[in-house]
Amino acid sequence: MPHELPKAYEPGAIEGRWAEYWKQEKLFHVITPPAGAVRNAFSLLLPPPNVTGRLHMGHMLNQTEMDIIMRWHRMKGNLTLWLPGTDHAGIATQMMVERQLRREGESRQQLGREAFIEKVWEWKRQYGAAILDQMKRLGASVDWDRLYFTLDDHLSRAVREVFVRLYQQGLIYRGKYIVNWCPDCGTAISDLEVKHEDVPGKLYEIRYPVVGSKEFITVATTRPETMLGDTAVAVNAKDERYTHLHGKKVILPLMNREIPIITDELANPEFGTGAVKVTPAHDPNDFQAGLRHNLPQVDVMDERAHMNQNAGQYAGLDRGQARERVVADLEAQGFLVAIKDYTIALGKCDRSGTIVEPRLSEQWFVKVEPLAKRAIEVVEKGYIRFTPENYRQIFLNWMYNIHDWCISRQLWWGHRIPAWRCGDCHQLVVARQAPGGCGKCGGPRLEQDTDVLDTWFSSALLPFTALGWPEASRDLEVFYPTSLLITGFDILFFWVARMIMMGCWFMMPPEKPVHADTKPEGREEALRNSVPFREVYIHALVRDAERQKMSKTKGNVLDPLEVITKYGTDATRFTLAAMAAPGTDIAFNPSRTEGYRNFANKIWNAARFLFLNRDRLGDAAGAPPPASPTAKGISGFAAQTLEDRWILSRFNGVAGYVNAALETYRFHEAASRIYDFFWGELCDWYLELIKPRLAFEEGGDKSTAQVAYKNLVLLFEASLRLLHPVMPFITEEIWQVIYDGCLPLKSIALALYPQADDRQINLKAETHMAVLQDLIVSVRNLRAELKVEPKQKVPVQIFASEPEIRTLIQGNHVAMERLANVEAIEFVESSLAKLPGARHTARFDMHLVYERKIDVGAERKRLMKELERLNQTIASAESQLGNRNFLAKAPPNVVEDLRKSLGQHQLLREKAQRKLEELQ
Ligand SMILES: [Zn+2]
Ligand SMILES: [Zn+2]
Repeated sequence: MPHELPKAYEPGAIEGRWAEYWKQEKLFHVITPPAGAVRNAFSLLLPPPNVTGRLHMGHMLNQTEMDIIMRWHRMKGNLTLWLPGTDHAGIATQMMVERQLRREGESRQQLGREAFIEKVWEWKRQYGAAILDQMKRLGASVDWDRLYFTLDDHLSRAVREVFVRLYQQGLIYRGKYIVNWCPDCGTAISDLEVKHEDVPGKLYEIRYPVVGSKEFITVATTRPETMLGDTAVAVNAKDERYTHLHGKKVILPLMNREIPIITDELANPEFGTGAVKVTPAHDPNDFQAGLRHNLPQVDVMDERAHMNQNAGQYAGLDRGQARERVVADLEAQGFLVAIKDYTIALGKCDRSGTIVEPRLSEQWFVKVEPLAKRAIEVVEKGYIRFTPENYRQIFLNWMYNIHDWCISRQLWWGHRIPAWRCGDCHQLVVARQAPGGCGKCGGPRLEQDTDVLDTWFSSALLPFTALGWPEASRDLEVFYPTSLLITGFDILFFWVARMIMMGCWFMMPPEKPVHADTKPEGREEALRNSVPFREVYIHALVRDAERQKMSKTKGNVLDPLEVITKYGTDATRFTLAAMAAPGTDIAFNPSRTEGYRNFANKIWNAARFLFLNRDRLGDAAGAPPPASPTAKGISGFAAQTLEDRWILSRFNGVAGYVNAALETYRFHEAASRIYDFFWGELCDWYLELIKPRLAFEEGGDKSTAQVAYKNLVLLFEASLRLLHPVMPFITEEIWQVIYDGCLPLKSIALALYPQADDRQINLKAETHMAVLQDLIVSVRNLRAELKVEPKQKVPVQIFASEPEIRTLIQGNHVAMERLANVEAIEFVESSLAKLPGARHTARFDMHLVYERKIDVGAERKRLMKELERLNQTIASAESQLGNRNFLAKAPPNVVEDLRKSLGQHQLLREKAQRKLEELQ
């Protein structure tokens, strides 16, 4: 433990040490109390970073905000649980390991499933902790002893439990479905993983001959190769151009297959020819039309997007080659009508950038409608609140239009779907454990489904599974619903919405239905307590200093670890907090971080001043006892002087303000108020004001100094606690030195967060101090304007009509003399407002008694020149006024003006002569 502060503030030297100490001492570990002994619980689930993750500015912001809130609640005495974990991140991790294998000339397929999964675990053991180490470096006050990984045994068991229950409730089904298929990743991906971009493309018009006539129907398509899988041509029933063709057939060119002409809404009479080809296996809208008309689904591609046997002579070509060949053949055979330029909204895989292929496949789905209904209800009823508030409506709009959720992924890394198929009778068995045999035919050959679950399936369950579900654990009782979720907008639907759906479903289980005799309040209570979190705070984006989105291609990505290395974690955290206004993106400028590093430095130097005085005063000055859990304000502070009463009042005002700001996630207001107090009031004013009281003669009476010192240490210690959630490291370092080995607690993180005591608020002291500050600052400004030498003391004249203000100034004349370098204060009886260079305020007028220094030689020259000019003017005026002719002819007012002017010039001459004499 440090016993003194090094001379220079070097964050790198202290931060790693405290991060390690907090973890080693298990300071943030929560032991769940038995029933009946629960303090107010406050719990938060860390959005589990991907195990492949590296810290970026978004994480850093998210973690800073969470850590501020968690440290604040812990210090307020709540039973505070911050639950950390990492996500197995199915596709991201699998691709990472596959890339590594490719470099070694191997592939996943060569290894086989089990060996590959073992490889991924190896990778995870080796590199999976990097993101956690980085979190530790940020000071995240998570409960490290509860760290989970989404593939841990108990979490995997819970995932199977949820799957089986949903399946039994008819909410998981298996179906053919058009999914977004990535031929490169070899897996279905969700709508949310598809990026759309507009690209120039072509629209191909193809004509299909009508069977038994010489007519053709012309259809248009951007993807001609899919025509090989057409199973109908659709026209709109209201489109009179085609009425005569209802019920007829066309011949599918190239394939020479007869397909029907159907009437369906799919065909829009306003668009093109009004007729469209129908390819149920390769287009989501056609798929739906196919279901309406019972059309066959002819899949002409394989999983790599190569043409398959159903594509006839085109089998084996990839989709690009197939397009060229199909178009060439259509043209050669006279079926191609036209090729036109056309803008296509191309869907690409978010990970690989490959063009996504709509593909018919067997997938597992969650029927979300009943789950969504409950999720909508809890948000509409306000059982979950959003900050900023506008996200509530965004969330609801999305939920009103939600589609079934495709939860299967064709990957190896993840939670394997707990479903088995009988090799003999093809019976499907969904079970918690691998079944011994087929329940239907008794056959022993059961094959488990090869797919795994979407990563978001398991993370949707975390608020309850990470607390021990399906066991009725004590943790669930105490910490569910969690109090808060802090996360980014980008995963509002991926994750937040699904947590709400799953939480409200499983924590208010349908197997305990609401009976007719259940009181409605009982249901409401259960619903209110089924939510995964009571509040959602959506944090902003961190952009670069020019408000540009950070991106690798722009090269403007700031690495938080570099910023931390340069300025320290505390300063980086403070920057993010100071800019984190809810709903406003952050333009991160490292120059601000430099400014907050200076702030930390200021605090460091103030602490060094404190310890210097402790050394001078000897052991008489002890550290303050820890504040009791119910304490408010600063107890033991002896407010004897104006500056004491003022700083105590300010401290309480700021504490009240900061608590209120954190209550509503106004991190920026909390941070800037603490900054202004600590630097602007405590360091710049209070420390300066009490210096004379801290001084004492060698061998003389120390009692005044001891009282002043004690006040200072009480105030400083409390201010460190106020700052701690934002700057945990420097506050811990100084706090530990204050207690110098006699710690009342293991860490400042466990000390009480300051609360305002209204009895310590003193508005009169604040007003008085404001007047005094105004006076001192005014003198300083005037001195600067007049370019007074810094060391030169200057007398001032003050006019103050209120006796109270005069008494105030007289009583604090020492402060004025020291801080404004004033040598004598003279009170005058009339306003100085009209005097040039005076400062006039509502409470006082002030004038600096000071004449500017001058160059004597130059001034004499100037005065002599002026006298010469005045003498000429006066002589000329005198001669005119002595001329009778002039006096007789001139109008009386002209004569009068001349007399006045002469008088003024004579006065000016006297003044100039006097000045000249003074200079000699
Ligand atoms: Zn892909
Ligand atoms: Zn069977």
